[in-house]
Amino acid sequence: MSGVPRTDHFDTVIVGGGPAGVAVAAALGAQPSQRVLLLEAGPAELVPPGGLRSANLFTALAVPDRQWHTTTVRHHRDCPETEYVRARTLGGGSAINAMVCLPAAPADFDEWANTYGATEWSYAHIRYHQEAVVGRAHTVPLGRGDNAVADGLRELGLHPTDLAVAGAVGFGALPLSLGDSPDHPMRRGAVDTYLRPPPSNLTVRGHAVVQRLNWTGNMVTGVELDDGAVISADCVVSCAGVVGSPLLLWRSHIDLPGIGLGLQDHPGVSIAVRWRNIDDGEPAGNQPAIVSGARLDGDLLLLAIKHTGQSDKSLGALGIALTRPSSRGVLRVQPNGHSVLEPQMLASPPDRIRMRAGVRHILELLRTSALRDSVADFNGPDTLGDDDIDRWVVQHLGDWYHGTGTCRMGPPDDQHTVVDQTCRVRGFDNLYVIDASVMPTCTAATTAVAVSVVAERAGAWLAHSA
Ligand SMILES: Cc1cc2nc3c(=O)[nH]c(=O)nc-3n(C[C@H](O)[C@H](O)[C@H](O)COP(=O)(O)OP(=O)(O)OC[C@H]3O[C@@H](n4cnc5c(N)ncnc54)[C@H](O)[C@@H]3O)c2cc1C
Repeated sequence: MSGVPRTDHFDTVIVGGGPAGVAVAAALGAQPSQRVLLLEAGPAELVPPGGLRSANLFTALAVPDRQWHTTTVRHHRDCPETEYVRARTLGGGSAINAMVCLPAAPADFDEWANTYGATEWSYAHIRYHQEAVVGRAHTVPLGRGDNAVADGLRELGLHPTDLAVAGAVGFGALPLSLGDSPDHPMRRGAVDTYLRPPPSNLTVRGHAVVQRLNWTGNMVTGVELDDGAVISADCVVSCAGVVGSPLLLWRSHIDLPGIGLGLQDHPGVSIAVRWRNIDDGEPAGNQPAIVSGARLDGDLLLLAIKHTGQSDKSLGALGIALTRPSSRGVLRVQPNGHSVLEPQMLASPPDRIRMRAGVRHILELLRTSALRDSVADFNGPDTLGDDDIDRWVVQHLGDWYHGTGTCRMGPPDDQHTVVDQTCRVRGFDNLYVIDASVMPTCTAATTAVAVSVVAERAGAWLAHSA
């Protein structure tokens, strides 16, 4: 890591060191003669502090000064605004997330190709890359609560499956982004995957907030930091994430009509449960909080949450998310720079019906003999009536921090297209966005796998064109 002189020049500047940014940086390592600078707004250690190495989501989330705290979300028009967690550290979301590493379904990528004109992203094109990303994941042995959920799902007719296989339906151990020691699971974030060791042509700078892009005509000329420093570049890649990339384009007066539109996230609710006799022997602060789950069908994903980060280790949850929502929303920015995500979850009637079905699945699961034995208590809707479930869902609605689509990839004749399928920003020759914001849809999975696939491939194209 080294400081950057105020007048420096780089061949490529990458804005944002999340999973996408570090994967692009690693891909550009294939061109050692190119000078690459990665600017991350948060701290940028190659070896992060202990809390960020923990396999436990809540331990990582509690590490101070690693989040933005400038973005809120209103999931549905009847929901209050709540904070939207955004990582601000090298590694981005991979430093604080739940590490679940589920592959997208073949139909997800084929939809990008067939509906959004992104033919380079059909499943046939990305299959090898996705299998390589998921192949780096590990499972851990299931505890008593997980096994009880598995038994309950079996009572309901669901079968065990390998959840690392794209599109598999059934229940099992989740692939997790962990190091390979089964006895002491540790988080393996994107920095471990892509920057260990860092490419020799890469300079990484932390605490570097890019305020705007400088550009003229169809060319960016560099970036300006919030301390006034200007860095010139032949090519700029925004990897600032689903909120950061659209904000950066807007602050740079790049006002394409599709920016901020097309937001999707997975609508999710959790039924809190109090496990009975759940002690697995390990302190909660070191264990992954989620190690098993189930794809109930093509679009409902269940996660068995062992513990919810409370001091009472018996408190867990059964979470259900709709992974193919049809509702879409917007990102808005207020004059003070504060951003608000409005995903308009469940605005479309089919989404409401599917979510209701998901909640009923969990309630049925809780009535199986396996779960009656293992769950002492749970919250949930008062009755199984549609109105009660719908009301309860809106009161408990959340997202899984899987935002996508705010700088959507698409065909040239769609006015809402922000980037072409190489991730180049419309109207520019040397400006790219490569991160979750370009994904045309949420995938029916956790998001980080698709983000890595997009960043590895688009980063390799950039390296070859350099
Ligand atoms: C709590 C939580 C749990 C999650 N759990 C999972 C899970 O289990 N599995 C899964 O697959 N996904 C999960 N996700 C989602 C996943 O982490 C994201 O999809 C992924 O991190 C997106 O990667 P990205 O590179 O697009 O953006 P980000 O991870 O958001 O990274 C963007 C980076 O850019 C930096 N940045 C932004 N603006 C600027 C600027 N102006 N200047 C400089 N730097 C800037 C940010 O600080 C950040 O480090 C979770 C996310 C959260 C928050």
